[in-house]
This record gives sequence, structure tokens and C-alpha cells, in this order.
Amino acid sequence: MVELSEIQVDGWERVMRGVDPDSGFHGIVAVHDTTLGPALGGLRMWPYADEAEALTDVKRLSRGMTYKSAVAQTGLGGGKAVIIGDATKDKGPALFRAMGELINSLDGKYITAEDVGIGIADLDHVAEICRWVSGRSLENGGSGNPSPYTAHGTFVGLKACIEEAFDSGDFAGKSFAVQGIGAVAKPLCQAIVAQGGTVIATDVNEANLAWVRENLEGTEIVGPNDIYDVDCDVFVPCALGAILNDETIPRLKAKVIGGCANNQLAEERHAQVLKDRGILYAPDYVINAGGIINVSCEFDDGGYVEEKAMPKIENIYHALKEIFQTAREEGTTTSAASARVAERRIAAGRPS
Ligand code: NAD
Repeated sequence: MVELSEIQVDGWERVMRGVDPDSGFHGIVAVHDTTLGPALGGLRMWPYADEAEALTDVKRLSRGMTYKSAVAQTGLGGGKAVIIGDATKDKGPALFRAMGELINSLDGKYITAEDVGIGIADLDHVAEICRWVSGRSLENGGSGNPSPYTAHGTFVGLKACIEEAFDSGDFAGKSFAVQGIGAVAKPLCQAIVAQGGTVIATDVNEANLAWVRENLEGTEIVGPNDIYDVDCDVFVPCALGAILNDETIPRLKAKVIGGCANNQLAEERHAQVLKDRGILYAPDYVINAGGIINVSCEFDDGGYVEEKAMPKIENIYHALKEIFQTAREEGTTTSAASARVAERRIAAGRPS
């Protein structure tokens, strides 16, 4: 039996802890805000030093999900779950069933999904006893791999960025420096090239560079540290977090930054540094929301249908337009404007 207990946290609707000595399970679910709908957010497994560290992380991540879902208009709120443990050696079916029990205690207020350290097989164990699981395989009634949808959302988001920063919204004739040619960047690069854009690529993995040579003929490849210095119109981070920092921002030649990588700003103040340099920054959690929007469509009446998900993903274009307009009107960074847009949507959803 999992021992369940509530943790009181100001500003969060519910925070629940679960401990099960038999399976070694120790986890927390944080439901930040359900004004706009049940709280959706992934499950992360990480070797946190102690519960306090895990609580800090689950609070930060769940709050971020509230903002992401509000801007993306998924009709969902923000939440997150963490398991304290080493994903390389502490996993087991009983551990994930214990997680399922913890999620059940919230009676649908929290819906889980994959995040760092968690795979589809782990979610299948959670789902053995819990129905609040999303992002499963197509065979199991889920919406499958989110990466192509994240790529499509990033592509339409880039269109909004280009329209804002340049005279024309055409990809043709513009150059895109892409950092990391992974699951999202591959279809994204193909879409950019199909529209007449030029890609300059980097990756640390030789197999991905071989893919570039084979599939994007004539594409220039540069070293991982040289991508910040290349002449380009758009910088597209698709690999790591914290790559927009005091060392890299002065080197960038691009007028636009828009890519799928999470947590691109090393610190929030770097949004202002980009603004001061006249670089248009597409907030990462807005432009990379295609995957989560796709997952949210699993809760549509009648279940997931790709044709219904696509227009919602393409709404990222309009979300960014609204953010850019808010930033212009209020003289703020796009990052601050995005938070304003989210807070407006949540306030509008609150019963008066
Ligand atoms: P991925 O692991 O498939 O691709 C990342 C790529 O970056 C890999 O090819 C890797 O070799 C490369 N890379 C790592 N370090 C690098 C470096 N220093 N310089 C250049 N390249 C480097 O991951 P992905 O699923 O394509 O996701 C990419 C980013 O987007 C991640 O930050 C992820 O959190 C974020 N994201 C992904 C999704 C999704 O649906 N997959 C959704 C939202 C956000």
C-alpha cells in the first residue's frame, strides 16, 4: 500500500506525496492550477538529493505547465509529477503502479505523460491501475510520438516570427542555423528547405550529420561551438537548454530566435538582453507546444483524431502573433508578454 499524504504549498491547488517502502517508491504530484481544465504535465524520474529538492523542481515545472497550457489553449491546466530515483537502475513495474495509485488519489485533477527518465513502457505500468495517463502509443489508444507535431508547431511559429521581424513572411531566401538535428529538428529542417529556406546545421552526433548530408543536400555543417557565430537570419535551438546566455548572445547574428529546445534562456534577464540587441525571441514553451497540444487532443470527445489536432497545433502561429503584439504595446520582452497572455487567459477562465 502506498502511504499518501498532502503537502500544503501556498499558490498550488494540491500537492500530494506517495511513499511505498515495498517498491521503493517516493514521489510527488503537484497540481498548480486547474482553472482552465485538469492539470496535464509529464512524469519525471530523477535522483534528487532529498524530498525538498524534488518539491522545488515539481513546483517549478508544474507552474510552467500552467502557463504553457494557457497560451496553447489546450483547455487544460498545469501539473507535474516526480519520482525520486535513478531511472537507470531503480525502475520496476511495482514502482510505476505505486505512481498510478498516487495519481488516482487526485481523481482526475492530474493527467500524467512522459518526461525526463520515463519511457512508454513505464507509462504502460502506470496505466495498469490508473486511467489518467496520456501520450501513450497509438496501439494503446494514445496519440503516439509527439516529435513530428512539435516540429510542425515550431515551423508555423517560425512563420509568425519571420513575419514580425522581416518585411516578408517567406522562408525562401532566409537562412536558419539549426542547433541539434534530432527527432524534432529533422522534420523541421525538411519543412524549412521545402519552403526555400537554407539550413546551416550542427550536431554532436555524427549519425545525425550523416542524415543531413543524405537528406538535405548542399546544407552547410558547422562545429557545435561555431553555430553561434554563423551569418544567418534565424537561430533555431533544437538541442539543449540555457544556450542563450552572456557568452553566446553577443555572438549571434540572427534577427530571430525560435526553436523547440526547452529552457533556452540561461536566466530570465536574458530575454531583456535579446530585446536590447533587437533580436526577436519566440518563448520556447510557446513555439514548442505542438507535442503537448497533440497529446491534449486525446481528451477530445470521441478520442484522438489527427485532423482535429492539426488546426490546434497551427494556432501556435496566432499565439505568437498575440505575444509579439502584447510585447510591442507594453514595451516588454516577449517572455514577459507571454506570461501576460497566459495570466489573461487564466483570469478570464476564473468564475466571477
Ligand atoms: P533529440 O534528443 O532527438 O535531439 C537533440 C539533438 O541535439 C540530438 O541529435 C543531439 O545529438 C543534439 N545535441 C546534443 N548536444 C548538442 C550540442 N552541444 N550541440 C549540438 N547538438 C547537440 O531531442 P528532441 O526530441 O528532438 O528534442 C530537442 C529539444 O526540444 C529538447 O530540448 C527537448 O526537451 C525539446 N522538446 C522536444 C519535444 C518533442 O516533442 N520531442 C517537445 C518539446 C520540447
